[in-house]
Amino acid sequence: MLFGEIIGQREVKQRLLNMVRDDRTPHALMLFGPAGTGKLALAVAMVQYLACGNRGDGDSCGVCPSCMKFGKLVHPDLHFVVPVLKAGGITAPPVTDDFIVDWREALLSDHYITENLWYEAIGAENKQGIINVRESESIIRKLSFKPYESDYRMMVLWLPEKMNLPAANKLLKLIEEPPDKTLILMVSEHTERIIPTILSRTQLLHVPPLTDTEIREGLKQQGTGDEQLIEDAANRANGNFSLALQTLRQDESESHNFELFTRLMRLCYARNIIEINTWVDQGAGIGRERQKQFIDYSLHLLRENFMLHMENGTLNYMSGREREFALKFSPFIHHGNVFDLVEAFGLAGNHIEANGNPRIILMDLSIRVIRLLMQKPAAAE
Ligand SMILES: [Zn+2]
Repeated sequence: MLFGEIIGQREVKQRLLNMVRDDRTPHALMLFGPAGTGKLALAVAMVQYLACGNRGDGDSCGVCPSCMKFGKLVHPDLHFVVPVLKAGGITAPPVTDDFIVDWREALLSDHYITENLWYEAIGAENKQGIINVRESESIIRKLSFKPYESDYRMMVLWLPEKMNLPAANKLLKLIEEPPDKTLILMVSEHTERIIPTILSRTQLLHVPPLTDTEIREGLKQQGTGDEQLIEDAANRANGNFSLALQTLRQDESESHNFELFTRLMRLCYARNIIEINTWVDQGAGIGRERQKQFIDYSLHLLRENFMLHMENGTLNYMSGREREFALKFSPFIHHGNVFDLVEAFGLAGNHIEANGNPRIILMDLSIRVIRLLMQKPAAAE
């Protein structure tokens, strides 16, 4: 990971570069501050810089043998400690090494990975990982060997606040008397949960929230287009790039689903079979996960339109664009067809889930929708 790949944080980067350049790298350093600011990426860029065989003034070279290994996070002198959970098949208390392949993959695919995204990546949503004493023993063992290829042994410890007390006490001894040429680089979001004896022996460096401008630039670099969505996501993120990125992806997916749904409804209402065929091709090409999201989104919008029709618009949960569409569309969603429409979309969702042929499923759905939109409201309405 290069400093150049990390959004903003010019001052923090400069201080890290100076430490290495002036040979003042402490043996225990902690980057701390709120989530989503790039602390972990900065930590990895720092150790890569420390080990780089041909470093420049402002960044690692990116191409030397050491950098090549850092590019895959497989350098033999680079160690990671991250919070983990008990997983199937592991009987001893879990340690990072049990998950190291997942960890490398997760961090390489998202430099701004959050604690929750990490647990999701190892199939443990909504659970809490810890760092246990077995992990501290493993850290001590690893740092007792001579470095293999670089001058330093480097340990990136993500979220030291997840250490339980025995683990923290064990690590404290190491921080008090570290082996020569060792860097323990911690990345924390809650320093108040770390025992004071560790904090007092560690050099602390605050990583501030990003500015809206930095987040906007970062989102643009991710290659996503819509200016307005980027603007909204940056404004709502509070300096947290990870949150901004998640918001943007969600908004984009919703925007795409809105477009798919409204187009299908218009084409079905007009009974335009030729264009429906094009729509089906498009829908069949987006992949099963996104098809399932489209079905969920459609069910949400059908419900909201029915509510709008029934309640005269007092009770609903729609965005401005959805509401604008619903004002024209909701009269067509009534007691006479809403249950069958919900059933038709639900059935399509089940068939997609069961790995059916998406062209057939979506064409079948379209034909049902044509028929159901022609249905008259029930007499009572
Ligand atoms: Zn290099």
